[in-house]
Amino acid sequence: MPFKLDVYDRSVYREPAPIDRDSPFQSMMERFDVAAEILELNPGFYEYLCRPARVHMTSIPVEMDTGRVKVFEGYRVIHNNVLGPSKGGVRYAPDVTLNEVKALAAWMTWKCSLVNLPFGGAKGGIICDPDELSRDELERLTRRYTADLFDVFGPDKDIPAPDMNTNEQIMAWILDTYSMHARRTENAVVTGKPVGLGGSKGRRQATGRGVMTVTLAAMDRLGLSPGECTVAVQGFGNVGSTAADLLSQQGCTVVAVSDVTGGYYNENGLNIQEVKAYAEQNGGTLSGYENATHITNEELLTLDVDVLVPAAKEDQIDKTIAENMEARIVAEGANGPTRPEADQVLQEKEVLVIPDILANAGGVTVSYFEWVQDRQGYFWTEDRVNQRLDRMMQKAFDKVYKTAEKHDVSLRIGAYVMGVRRVAEALRMRGIYA
Ligand code: GLU
Repeated sequence: MPFKLDVYDRSVYREPAPIDRDSPFQSMMERFDVAAEILELNPGFYEYLCRPARVHMTSIPVEMDTGRVKVFEGYRVIHNNVLGPSKGGVRYAPDVTLNEVKALAAWMTWKCSLVNLPFGGAKGGIICDPDELSRDELERLTRRYTADLFDVFGPDKDIPAPDMNTNEQIMAWILDTYSMHARRTENAVVTGKPVGLGGSKGRRQATGRGVMTVTLAAMDRLGLSPGECTVAVQGFGNVGSTAADLLSQQGCTVVAVSDVTGGYYNENGLNIQEVKAYAEQNGGTLSGYENATHITNEELLTLDVDVLVPAAKEDQIDKTIAENMEARIVAEGANGPTRPEADQVLQEKEVLVIPDILANAGGVTVSYFEWVQDRQGYFWTEDRVNQRLDRMMQKAFDKVYKTAEKHDVSLRIGAYVMGVRRVAEALRMRGIYA
């Protein structure tokens, strides 16, 4: 008899009633549930895999430039390390919550598993507004967070990386603080660091490059050529700006981009190099950019384009947006941009959604290359990094596509099935240590 969800004790992950429908962890679990049922996942494994293995919370005192001490709250959630040391970024944002970090950590587990990396999943976060911190305050915050988590991090244990509002400089401070405490330079303890400190060539562009590769693969499946496709990109951070740039280099017409100041639309196509240069000179924002019409976030998401790349944050595409969406391909550069109830609408409309854990896996894939290079002390050329990344992304896309076809499900569920399966198989082989 096939397993049914009622064999699972769903209360293990549910929050106290009423269930918070807006919770990112809940939104991850709704997809995990479907994959678990398809895989006939052992109910005990189900219970284990939907909980984080460890949750660390730290109060981080920082002496501000004024001399006053302010305390920030930081997290590091290790969702799972069955496949290897846990891996995942650290985000700095005022609206970080533990629930969100738990969801992001679980997504890292499925993502690393899906692309066949020898890593488990983790995520970190600090509740802070980086725009309001000076460079010195940001450095003190980062160093104290790293020192607090010294026992958690390690090249064989848990390896942080950049995520929202964190960058190469912040990774350099993590590397230095960890190394000072370890009394040796440990460059494999963190990825996404500057190339001069053992970072990998191509890492900064890797997530956006992966988004490009899977978008081209999806176009190919739909019989579309890049030259005839229009693209809208939500979010102009590292992922969004690189994806926009690379897709336009492939011949796509990128008609809209956006950032926190709203959307910028030009039906004849934006010159992405120029938009990037403008943002750089304008303190990182697009505000006041003139060669485009200003549109709202919602208008951008529902533009009549072939490809939509949500590369901002979670929960951007709800049911109503999905109903009004015109795009044929959605390539999720961000983690969790689509709400579960929107999934069904998009599936009914036959929109090809390349799910986050596949579409944005390029970043962690090159993080893995970086870790391998650090441990070997032998560094690759950018061509070698890019070729290997392209190959791995293409292969992952094809496998997810095949899995989805086999089970007659969306690419998202196909990706979860693949991600959860590899972890569950490893867990079965290792056994539960009593
Ligand atoms: N923060 C990125 C992600 O969500 C990269 C993580 C990493 O490289 O470890 O995939």
